[in-house]
Order: sequence, then structure tokens, then C-alpha cells
Amino acid sequence: MSAATQELTVEEKLRQLFNLQRIDSQIDEIQIMKGELPMEVSDLEDEIAGLQTRIDRLQSVVTEMESDLSKYHAQIKEAEMLIQRYQAQLDNVKNNREFEALTKELEMQRLDIQLKEKKIRAGEIELDNKRDTLKGTEDRIEKKKKELDAKKVELNQIIEKTDQEEKTLRGQSMAAREHVEERLIRAYDKVRTSYRNGLAVVTVERNSCGGCFNKIPPQLQLEIAQHRKIIACEHCGRILVDSLILGIDGE
Ligand SMILES: [Zn+2]
Repeated sequence: MSAATQELTVEEKLRQLFNLQRIDSQIDEIQIMKGELPMEVSDLEDEIAGLQTRIDRLQSVVTEMESDLSKYHAQIKEAEMLIQRYQAQLDNVKNNREFEALTKELEMQRLDIQLKEKKIRAGEIELDNKRDTLKGTEDRIEKKKKELDAKKVELNQIIEKTDQEEKTLRGQSMAAREHVEERLIRAYDKVRTSYRNGLAVVTVERNSCGGCFNKIPPQLQLEIAQHRKIIACEHCGRILVDSLILGIDGE
């Protein structure tokens, strides 16, 4: 096998490297999908728990306000009954002092009714606001719960599906590695692990490195296109291939 490796042209070596990169990038994608979904699921669960706490609090505030309002209504009824009673008593007053006392009492009950009516008006506005907020929060929690269900389904599907897919890809990656010479594999692994996106082999795109996006001098671009030697980006160290190689690559 080592003899066969020696005979490979640079172009073939580049294609093998690019092929390996493509397989490894698919493995990376699976890792990313797996890596983010559990976090998204737990973020959503936290958010839903927070919303539920808010809903519970709002519900108890609404209940309290409703009970305040019905208390005011009852107090008004009571005052109205008292007014009726005092008015009846007015017909049978025996002296001026009694008359004044009853008149004062009537006035107090009427003032009390006015005060309670004012409290009811303000309370109803506030209650409406709270109910709106509650409704909005309930709508939001419903939306988040649906989102969570969807994410959980997605996560389970990925776990179910990717186990097999990842195994296959890892096998393909191992096989692809065997075709690439040791020196290049070492360079490939070194660069691949130094970048978060795991890219060690990139194409030239719009006269720039597809990895770090720095401009590639025209002379270097020419050399890349000639496939006479393996060329790394002078800025990021990634191995550069021209898109022509991909065009030739019929896979
Ligand atoms: Zn670069």
C-alpha cells in the first residue's frame, strides 16, 4: 500500500484529503446537532418552569383581586340596606338630635358607597390588565410547550438515526484515512483540531481562503490550480484546493 501511496499524484492526494474532510465534516454536523438539541431542550424546560411560576403568581393575584371586588360589592349592598333602614327611621324621629345623627349616618353610608364604587372601577381596570398579562403568559407557555415537544421528537429522531449514520461515517473516515499518507494525516489532524469548525481542507472562494477568508495572492492561486504541490493558507494553515478539483471529483 505504501508503494501505491508514493505513486499518487498531488491532485489525487488533494482529492483524497478533500474526501476525508467531507466525511469528517458530516460527522461534525451530527455532533453539532446532538450537541445543541439537548441544550435547547433544557433551556426550553427552564423557560417553561419560569413561565409556570409567573402564571401561578398571576392567578393568585387575579383571585385576590376578584375577591376584593366582590367584597366591595357586598359592602355596597350592606350600605344600601343601612340607608333604607335609616331612611325609614327618619320618618319616626323623636327629636332633632336623633335626626342629625341619622342624617350623618346616611351621609357616611353614601360616601362609603361612592368610595367603594371608585375602588371597584379602579380594581376592574387593574383586574383586566392582570387578566391580559395572564392570558399572554398562558399563550406563551403553550407555544413553548409545543416547541419543546417538537424539539424532543427531533432529538429522539436524531439519536435514533445518527447512531447508525455516525457509525457508518466513522468507518468511511477510517477507510479514507488509510489512503492518505501519514505526513498529510498528521497535518490534517493538527489543523482540524485547532479550529472549532473542524475544517482543515478548504476551497478557494472568490480569491480567498474558504477557511479564514483572507485574500490569496494571484501567484499562489495559480500554483493551487496547477496541483503540483500541496499548499496551505499562509494565514490559517488550512490546505487549499481549487474548486476545479471538486468539479473533477465525480462522487
Ligand atoms: Zn486561511
